[in-house]
Amino acid sequence: MKAHRNKWVMADHAHAWHPFTDQEVWENEDPVVLSRGEGSWLIDVEGQRYLDANSSIWTNIHGHAHPDLVQAIQEQAARLCHSSYLGLANDRASELAEKLCGFFPRTLERCFFSDDGSTALEVAFKMSLQWRQQNEGSGRGERDGIIAFENAYHGDTLGAASAGGVSRFLKGYAEAGLQVYRVSSFAEVAALPQVVVETASAVVIEPLIQGVNQMRTWPRGMLRDLRQWSSERGIHLILDEVMTGFGRTGKMFACQNEEVIPDFLCLAKGLTGGCMPLAATLTTAEIYEGFKGAERTFYYGHSYTGNALGCAAALASLAIFEKENTLAEVERKGAYLEAGLRDKSFVKAIRRVGLIIGVDIEGCGQKFCQDLRARGVLTRPILNTIVVMPPLCISDCEMDFLLAAMPE
Ligand SMILES: *Cc1c(COP(=O)(O)O)cnc(C)c1O
Repeated sequence: MKAHRNKWVMADHAHAWHPFTDQEVWENEDPVVLSRGEGSWLIDVEGQRYLDANSSIWTNIHGHAHPDLVQAIQEQAARLCHSSYLGLANDRASELAEKLCGFFPRTLERCFFSDDGSTALEVAFKMSLQWRQQNEGSGRGERDGIIAFENAYHGDTLGAASAGGVSRFLKGYAEAGLQVYRVSSFAEVAALPQVVVETASAVVIEPLIQGVNQMRTWPRGMLRDLRQWSSERGIHLILDEVMTGFGRTGKMFACQNEEVIPDFLCLAKGLTGGCMPLAATLTTAEIYEGFKGAERTFYYGHSYTGNALGCAAALASLAIFEKENTLAEVERKGAYLEAGLRDKSFVKAIRRVGLIIGVDIEGCGQKFCQDLRARGVLTRPILNTIVVMPPLCISDCEMDFLLAAMPE
């Protein structure tokens, strides 16, 4: 086996370190080394084709190497790849900020760029906390608490990780980071003691469906209840739409399914159609105004904030939604995959929102996905839940291929 390992596997095994990976196991496996993508497909260095049933960890929207995205990136690269956003603007970032806020007229009017889902959440937490400090009289006491949900996932930077509730990811860091009150349902939110409510700055949630928590869906109407509850108490609502944003749920944003407008909307993964790292935190005029004036600056930013290449890709991705009428087919495709999966004997339960599907199986998720890979489908399990989340552009033919690759 080892003799056949190509030079990229050798270099990887010798020098690379992968995320969320037991490297001891990894070093004894033969990994797929990808080098190309075409629509819903990924192609490895040996020419083997795989259906990307995981949208490359929930990022890809319109397929790989979409010609409009390629063109937008090429044209932008030839003009300007990056310039500092500190004290300077750039044309693409201006256009994208306007476009994103345009989805929420007169409500979410401001866009703060960063690089990843985790940083989009960090920005929201820091803005919420700092806004309290400089806009609320001392009579209100300290409001530095964050209400967050059990088994939530909000990213891996220290603050975002501390808001997350997946115990196996928190080992060693549980005490660091934000002051978090953890709840598991809206009923528990509504029953929070007064002292917690009075000291809470924000409540954070993955709307409609918790991704890393094995694709667990919230009861319908829960998001609206949470919005009402938080508004009545002056607590900010932070929506983590890093996974659900950009069409996965059938609407452009999950919050639109329940006509909810948050105080902070965190976007990343699908923002660029899945081809560049870029994130945005949208917020209201009220929050924004609270940062004006001396000693009120929001001291936050990264070297690549407002990156022109990423913004060009995001603009091109949003244009494809219109050109291909992408949202119109999401619910039909999701229902089609769900119906095909329901016929399978290995399926214990299915949870689905739009084109986000979690399939609980009998047996080992890891092994199941290894077998799928041998049949030309790439995805990842979360424990023994198989994620079926293809690019929104997946064709009927490709959905049939995906279903056929699974056992009966
Ligand atoms: C992936 C994800 C994040 C973190 O995003 P990164 O880009 O990996 O930092 C946060 N929240 C949710 C819901 C996610 O799915």
